Amino acid sequence: MKSYRKELWFQVPSRRGFINITPQVETCLKESTVKEGFVLVNAMHITASVFINDDESGLHSDYEKWLEKLAPHEPISQYRHNNTGEDNADAHMKRQIMGREVVVAITNGKLDFGPWEQIFYGEFDGMRKKRVLVKIIGE
Ligand code: ZN
Repeated sequence: MKSYRKELWFQVPSRRGFINITPQVETCLKESTVKEGFVLVNAMHITASVFINDDESGLHSDYEKWLEKLAPHEPISQYRHNNTGEDNADAHMKRQIMGREVVVAITNGKLDFGPWEQIFYGEFDGMRKKRVLVKIIGE
């Protein structure tokens, strides 16, 4: 069995943002030379997500509005977590609902996606360097 591990680094220039990281994951898959197996992609921070959905800008702005309704950033005093001196309680909640990781099957050396599926990094407390782990196992 082959095993491959890589950390991808991102620095989103605003507090929140979505990045399509499918090309980076495909590069990892090529480097791994795995033809049949699984890839795990997870955010290594508790205020960021990795999720799969459509690369459609209207949908992404809908996510932004929906998440801001569920867990508004302000007023920051509404969250007990922010009593620690942080201001990112909303980011922890947004991460929780958008998820930590995805697993994708690898078939014949390719990511075995359903229609329109793409992998995204979701940032909810940006403007600093953060990591995504890519782990591939198979043969
Ligand atoms: Zn925090």
